[in-house]
Amino acid sequence: MPERSSRGPAPARPDAIVVGAGMAGLVCAADLTAAGLEVVVLEASDDVGGRMRTDRRDGFLLDRGFQVFNTGYPQVRRRMGFGGPRMYPFTPGVVLATGRGHLRFGAPVPRPSAAATFLRGGLGPWKDVPALGLLSARDALAPASVIKAGPDVPVRRALADAGISDALVERFFRPFLSGVFLEPDLATSARVFHLVWRSMLRGALCAPAEGIGTVPRWLAADLPEDTVRTGCPVREVTDAGVLTEDGTEIGARTVVVATDGPAAARLLPGVPAPRTRTVTTYYHAAERSPLAEPTLLLDAARHRFLSSCVLSEAAPERAPRGVALISTSVLGEDRPGREAEVRTALGDAYGADSSVWDPVHTVTVRGALPAMEPPQPLSRSTRLSPGRYVCGDHRGTGSVQGAMASGARAAREVLVDLARAAGLLPARR
Ligand SMILES: Cc1cc2nc3c(=O)[nH]c(=O)nc-3n(C[C@H](O)[C@H](O)[C@H](O)COP(=O)(O)OP(=O)(O)OC[C@H]3O[C@@H](n4cnc5c(N)ncnc54)[C@H](O)[C@@H]3O)c2cc1C
Repeated sequence: MPERSSRGPAPARPDAIVVGAGMAGLVCAADLTAAGLEVVVLEASDDVGGRMRTDRRDGFLLDRGFQVFNTGYPQVRRRMGFGGPRMYPFTPGVVLATGRGHLRFGAPVPRPSAAATFLRGGLGPWKDVPALGLLSARDALAPASVIKAGPDVPVRRALADAGISDALVERFFRPFLSGVFLEPDLATSARVFHLVWRSMLRGALCAPAEGIGTVPRWLAADLPEDTVRTGCPVREVTDAGVLTEDGTEIGARTVVVATDGPAAARLLPGVPAPRTRTVTTYYHAAERSPLAEPTLLLDAARHRFLSSCVLSEAAPERAPRGVALISTSVLGEDRPGREAEVRTALGDAYGADSSVWDPVHTVTVRGALPAMEPPQPLSRSTRLSPGRYVCGDHRGTGSVQGAMASGARAAREVLVDLARAAGLLPARR
């Protein structure tokens, strides 16, 4: 993948400045450059990607927090189709560690075999099978606009309203969705849940071969050379453009702030700082893979971790040859003794001797996701004032899809406003 970011001086007066080279900023920059604008992306850190970065350490490729890549997201389908970074699919469904062994849960795809497994495994009463089938069929088949227009309540209410039993909620939905939304109370917006469920039904959960960071790098590689300036934190958005931390003012008529929510609130008075979720991922190395399959394992019985997987079963490139890389996420911060507790829980859940596993790395991400409680506006205008815009997952949904869609929307709104200013479109009323 060609390197496209650089550290040299930015052009004196680009048409547009995008602050932040996460997924939202990269998509916005791609659409603005495709429309012929000269764009500069100013990124504070040393590479593109924001929350989607991968580090190489001792032969391992370690994401900064475990992430799956969902090919069902509409923006992903539109932009990445064929020719994107190499991906390996996880096996559909999840494996539940029930305390009495492993149970494969085939949902979200409702099939007769999945229903049989479900009933045999005692996950819930028989009436859950049609209730889950109906919920999934509606989410998969109805237009997204129907979901977006639906009532917004906490997920736990929506599941109860759909006839899903408390037993199934506790044994599957709570452990599964805690890992998706990074909160254990099922307090997240039902609309966000239905959209995520829909994309899971319509796509596949994948592990990029060389790490999650290859996704934003692939987007960045398509931008004109020198568009992205790394190591260039913006201190302030000014009347003329932006002021960087080193005291340089770069002028531009259009400034799009595409940072994470807390940074956007610091740069733009009036933009609220979202409440955010924190997650910690523990990476372990083992001589033998404890589960010879690329699948997500949930601690359905005891909820001691969000999810775990043998990442090297999905993507062998992630670990040195002959070593299994196990990735496990938990809510909140790391603390003394937590790694050992997690390793013990993993031993139970995999049915393996985890005492011989090596802790390879621990990464805590504060602000991993914005909280998305109802009522959750699924997409907000990015316009703040003439020539000033804000985008990112905190303006849509806390996901790759939300970040990309918000970046695309910012670009659309910028282009419409420029066309209006040039008299090519009627003025806004
Ligand atoms: C551990 C983890 C697991 C996740 N799992 C999933 C998942 O499975 N599926 C899913 O869909 N989503 C997942 N997400 C969420 C997804 O990664 C994010 O929603 C998405 O990457 C956000 O992109 P963004 O562009 O909005 O923001 P960011 O990625 O945060 O990008 C913002 C950029 O702005 C830069 N910046 C900040 N301040 C400044 C400044 N002053 N000047 C210049 N630059 C600045 C930052 O350095 C950063 O590069 C996960 C996130 C984490 C952390």
